[in-house]
Amino acid sequence: GDFPIETDTIVIGAGPGGYVAAIRAAQLGQKVTIVEKGELGGVCLNVGCIPSKALISASHRFHEAKNSEDIGIKAENVTLDFGKVQEWKSGVVNKLTGGVQGLLKGNKVDIVKGEAYFVDEHSIRVMDENSAQTYTFKNAIIATGSRPVEIPGFKYSKRVLDSTGAINLDELPKSLVVIGGGYIGVELGSAYANFGTEVTIIEGTKDILGGFEKQMTALVKRNLKKKNVNIVTNAEAKGVEETDEGVKVTYAAKGEEQTVEADYVLVTVGRKPNTDELGLEQVGVKIDDKGLIEVDKQRRSNVPSIFAIGDIVDGPKLAHKASYEGKIAAEVIAGQSSEVDYIGIPAVVFSEPELASVGYSEQQAKDEGIEIEAARFPFAANGRALALNETDGFVKLITRKEDGLIIGGQIAGANASDMIAEIGLAIEAGMTAEDVAMTIHAHPTLGEMTMEAAEVALGTPVHIM
Ligand code: FAD
Repeated sequence: GDFPIETDTIVIGAGPGGYVAAIRAAQLGQKVTIVEKGELGGVCLNVGCIPSKALISASHRFHEAKNSEDIGIKAENVTLDFGKVQEWKSGVVNKLTGGVQGLLKGNKVDIVKGEAYFVDEHSIRVMDENSAQTYTFKNAIIATGSRPVEIPGFKYSKRVLDSTGAINLDELPKSLVVIGGGYIGVELGSAYANFGTEVTIIEGTKDILGGFEKQMTALVKRNLKKKNVNIVTNAEAKGVEETDEGVKVTYAAKGEEQTVEADYVLVTVGRKPNTDELGLEQVGVKIDDKGLIEVDKQRRSNVPSIFAIGDIVDGPKLAHKASYEGKIAAEVIAGQSSEVDYIGIPAVVFSEPELASVGYSEQQAKDEGIEIEAARFPFAANGRALALNETDGFVKLITRKEDGLIIGGQIAGANASDMIAEIGLAIEAGMTAEDVAMTIHAHPTLGEMTMEAAEVALGTPVHIM
């Protein structure tokens, strides 16, 4: 017999949205069960953020080892054991997923393996290989994430890869075609280019990394070209022919049909939400035409006992956004009055150089009719950047003209991913350019550039004219 198991809060999916929501709900006194059909950690830990960053950093070290003659270091016979790189990467992933398991258990969250399906607004069924169990709940948080979109003519196979396939290759490709110049395509493309793979990026629109400013993407393109990455824009991928040894990709550009051959092709043109196999229609949870669950600012769906967070709701498909929403939903369930505020959500590309943005860009401010000051400070004028031999890039602060309030910032350059946090904090804390300019930053650090940009905003920069 199938006796239902009762719980307060059930979380479906253990990615950065779900596992964080589960821990927070438990901390707030809820009896919590989390259901995961795959691996703890979801896309981000297993086949997304973490393994891609591991590959990027390994590739960067390899490339640096071979290309540091300009600072007096000449290394001969630098070799790559790609299998070992992959082993190390998997070790990093395992350490983190093991950590998530420990944290869930430590917070007394019940972990259930299996696939969840809604029966009604207070119960789900969880199917495992050969068992099924019903769980009843007061509230549910759906955090089932997203999966890669497949495009016509490019059925995923041994040589036609999605991002997971490209992250888990066991041999280093001699050549790779990347379809889609978004952040995932650019990150993985540049990692393989660093390892010595001949990379071609085919992008449908007029530029790679759409959404980031020209001034920023131009730096990334220059760096990719230096690594002999071929970037084709305004190009439409048409189809692929697969052979034993590789692929032949056809695309249309400048009104002509072209082909490029390679060992593999990576297709990364977007992701779609996992909301189609959950039985949502059974409980009447509303989804929009993109398959996203409609939620309010508290992440509650139209069915009051069901919440949704992360890649399956509107907004950027990013891990930290999923986690943030997970905390909000858990707090709301525990009776708090939390709601989401997106202004401080950073977006980062782990390209070379790194790109990061938070809050308003110049263009967004203009579009909304906000009068702003955009203050820039270049990496080339910062001592630490010079000592790191990383002189490409800039820090830009966006302040409101009337009162100097910091409302946004963009950073292109080494460690932009870490530096953007200070601007996010300034926005969240309601700081002005003067507050940041008066904050003492250690010397010599890249962080000083944020202080200097604030001084530019005030009209009194010390280190540039
Ligand atoms: P997911 O992480 O997708 O987790 C959902 C989980 O739900 C999965 O484990 C799935 O198995 C499970 N599930 C689905 N359906 C069911 C069901 N019916 N029953 C039980 N379990 C189910 N984001 C960043 O912020 N920074 C990065 O650097 C970054 N790099 C990325 C690189 C790549 C290559 C990719 C693909 C993504 C990257 N992302 C990055 C995006 C990030 O991975 C996602 O935004 C994030 O994982 C979304 O979290 P989530 O909790 O919504 O869903």
